[in-house]
Amino acid sequence: MLPTFTYIRPNSLAEAVRLLGAPGARAHAGGTDLLGCLRDRVFGAGTLVSLSGIAEMRGIRRALDGGLVVGAMTSLAEVASNPEVVARYPGLAQGAASAASPQLRGQGTIGGNICQRPRCWYYRGDFHCARKGGEKCFAVEGENQFHSIFGGEVCFYVHPSDTAPALVGLDAVIRIAGPSGARSVPADAFFVAPAKDYTRETVLGPAEIVTEIVLPAQPQETRGTYRKVRARGAWDFALAGAAVVVTLADHRVERARIVLSGVAPIPWRVPAAERALMGHRLGASSASKVADAAAGNAQPLGQNAYKVELVRGAVEEALLAIAG
Ligand SMILES: Cc1cc2nc3c(=O)[nH]c(=O)nc-3n(C[C@H](O)[C@H](O)[C@H](O)COP(=O)(O)OP(=O)(O)OC[C@H]3O[C@@H](n4cnc5c(N)ncnc54)[C@H](O)[C@@H]3O)c2cc1C
Repeated sequence: MLPTFTYIRPNSLAEAVRLLGAPGARAHAGGTDLLGCLRDRVFGAGTLVSLSGIAEMRGIRRALDGGLVVGAMTSLAEVASNPEVVARYPGLAQGAASAASPQLRGQGTIGGNICQRPRCWYYRGDFHCARKGGEKCFAVEGENQFHSIFGGEVCFYVHPSDTAPALVGLDAVIRIAGPSGARSVPADAFFVAPAKDYTRETVLGPAEIVTEIVLPAQPQETRGTYRKVRARGAWDFALAGAAVVVTLADHRVERARIVLSGVAPIPWRVPAAERALMGHRLGASSASKVADAAAGNAQPLGQNAYKVELVRGAVEEALLAIAG
């Protein structure tokens, strides 16, 4: 059962920031993740501040540089089907389309998608784990088949978002409003690894709100895709996945971003794989070598070594898909 809370729906960003400054207040977007956390007593909230009345946080518009600005309250369904996103940022559209179910994509927002809390069953369950202020990560010696193979250290959950890897790959910028005004953070720096601070997943401070996400214009000859591997075709989180964004010059790769999902507590860039792709033509030979490099530094736990091969396969398939 849901606990009792006060629900407020301000009409302006300034009012929402002010309301979120009160103790026990939390931002409510689509509620698809938040309400589950409250129901399961993962954390509490005295007040939910709905962001749904803030018109400027909705929709997708052209940026001055030719890129796109996506309001944080834009639904995943709208991101997935927007013609400009589909045509120019296909990996992001595919990530949004592969998240959850049609109903959840209609209700869930892209802002909520990148701010959603860990899905780890110890964190969500009745365990006083490190992320909840306890002493250890229960996954290390426990049921860890769905946990991290990269970057776990203190806490081994996997980042649940299917849009975040594409945003990192696109060098997107996250715009934030808070008590001290507005600021912008590269998507790559928005997510906080447990080794840096295992009490938080993002750089958001108290009462800060993600307002919009800026997708920079991409150079000509940029190609991208997102490959998600999951246990079943219907809604399911990624067991592993790869967002790949590549810019070509004279048929050779001159810029590469390879970002993994489902295998690390943050969208996991693999610079070794990106370097292995630079200067090469897209094709079967380079895809296989790059996939090896992507999986190279994995450190599986007791029950999730199978993910190493999934990473290999996801990266190889993504690269072959954009090879044309
Ligand atoms: C059954 C199920 C399956 C799912 N499968 C997938 C999947 O396969 N892939 C995937 O990516 N996701 C999946 N999800 C997660 C779902 O996509 C996210 O829950 C959704 O995108 C969250 O958006 P929301 O608007 O509902 O966020 P909410 O639930 O409203 O908020 C989530 C969190 O983000 C915070 N928040 C929300 N918006 C903002 C903002 N603008 N600024 C600051 N903080 C904010 C809230 O305070 C809360 O802590 C699944 C969820 C469920 C319930």
